[in-house]
Amino acid sequence: MLVGGEWREARAEASLPVHNPATGEVIAAVADADADDAADVLEAAAAAFPRWSATPPRRRAALLHDVFLALHERAEEFAQLITLEMGKPLAESRAEVGYAADFLRWYSEEAVRISGSYRTAPDGSARHLTLRQPVGPCLLVTPWNFPLAMITRKVAPALAAGCTVILKPAEETPLSALHFAHVMAEAGLPAGVVNVVNTSRPGPLVEAILRDRRIRKLSFTGSTEVGRRLLELAAPGVLRTSMELGGNAPFIVFRDADIDAAVEGAVAAKLRNGGQSCVAANRFIVDDAVAPRFIEGLAERLRAQIVGPGADPRSTLGPLINGGQRDRAVGLVDDAVSHGADPVVHYGTAGPGDAFLKPVLLDRVPPAAQIARQEIFGPVATVYRFSTEQEGLALANATESGLVGYVYTQDLNRALRAIEAMECGMVGVNRGYVSDASAPFGGTKQSGLGREGGEIGIQEYLETKYASIDATGTRGFG
Ligand code: NAD
Repeated sequence: MLVGGEWREARAEASLPVHNPATGEVIAAVADADADDAADVLEAAAAAFPRWSATPPRRRAALLHDVFLALHERAEEFAQLITLEMGKPLAESRAEVGYAADFLRWYSEEAVRISGSYRTAPDGSARHLTLRQPVGPCLLVTPWNFPLAMITRKVAPALAAGCTVILKPAEETPLSALHFAHVMAEAGLPAGVVNVVNTSRPGPLVEAILRDRRIRKLSFTGSTEVGRRLLELAAPGVLRTSMELGGNAPFIVFRDADIDAAVEGAVAAKLRNGGQSCVAANRFIVDDAVAPRFIEGLAERLRAQIVGPGADPRSTLGPLINGGQRDRAVGLVDDAVSHGADPVVHYGTAGPGDAFLKPVLLDRVPPAAQIARQEIFGPVATVYRFSTEQEGLALANATESGLVGYVYTQDLNRALRAIEAMECGMVGVNRGYVSDASAPFGGTKQSGLGREGGEIGIQEYLETKYASIDATGTRGFG
């Protein structure tokens, strides 16, 4: 644990094993905190807050920029660590480090642009001064699928705003988080500004932190189910919350799409991170007129994937995070096939035992199949066909999730209609990738609250205060 600048054991001296998903081997053990450790991290984050929030923005910015440079210098170290604990191919881990570092650069630039306003009251009797201040100590809870980027996406804007944080990474991937904290400390981050706590029992620890009045904000990335529970826990303290939750992304291919480009985008949107991404294309919604060509192209690309350990440079698809996730995906595929889905690409028999799964492509998936409603989180592509634009858009919106949607068309007017009609926070048009530190990432409906990235991302960590200043003495011309 990192608490107030000190590396230490959990109070109970318990430890949490970390596994390599490619082999199942234990590769490390980290301090396993429980609810008894909550008071220490809370105290550390609260104690560091007055000083950090009063640190000149330029100094906070310089520190974030130094960490940005350090991440680039040590990119290979971080990439190896991400692959080791999370499993993705090294090339993808390298890309994640670059993406993660971008948040530090972007928010180092935003730290000095926190602005306010000055206004004359309409009746002239007062002046209104509006200022933006850091919300206070924040709890940041992150998932395992992007062990570094999900952390920098929260830590960078929080620190830029002047908040201190308690970071609780996913139990599957604590190492990237701890290494990141080391790098921040080396760059000169004051003690207590970032505190890191890992646990095998997130429920009690997170609840103990949220029940304490020293915490002022929760930022969570993870499943919708856990997010809902945390919103309840945040209610008694009326905490500010940001929620980046699950997705069920539609990927619409209209009849006027460039099909080669759509296949390219589909491969990226489906297979990045082995499909274990909240913005992974979950449902390919394809116009009947072009479905055979699109499906043939995608099937060819899926069959060509080389499934193997992420550390092997030949691998294009690594293991899923663990055997449980693999079995879950297999269960969804079996259920869809038993409901009548057509298995265009199938792994054959997938026996339990390891975390690897070859890609699958299912055509004509019936709405009754579970996979039609759930986030798949694996390399399984499902196709649903339509024949009119309205039908395609209705299928896309037929979900409680609203994170991202992808649209392929060469008709600008159709693209604009789709952007406006889609019920989600982000739309990729003729591209299968939307994540960018400079853009507002986040969802609508049950995919979340708030945004990360862009100018808006720092606002999640700022409160608005307004002062009304009597100005009656300034009236008249003397
Ligand atoms: P998860 O919800 O199980 O876990 C996420 C985090 O919550 C982890 O740190 C975990 O330890 C913690 N957690 C789990 N149970 C908890 C509890 N009872 N109380 C407090 N904390 C608890 O999700 P996951 O399986 O790690 O990640 C996958 C999910 O994350 C997917 O649904 C995915 O879509 C979502 N995700 C969303 C985004 C986004 O930006 N919208 C990004 C990445 C992942």
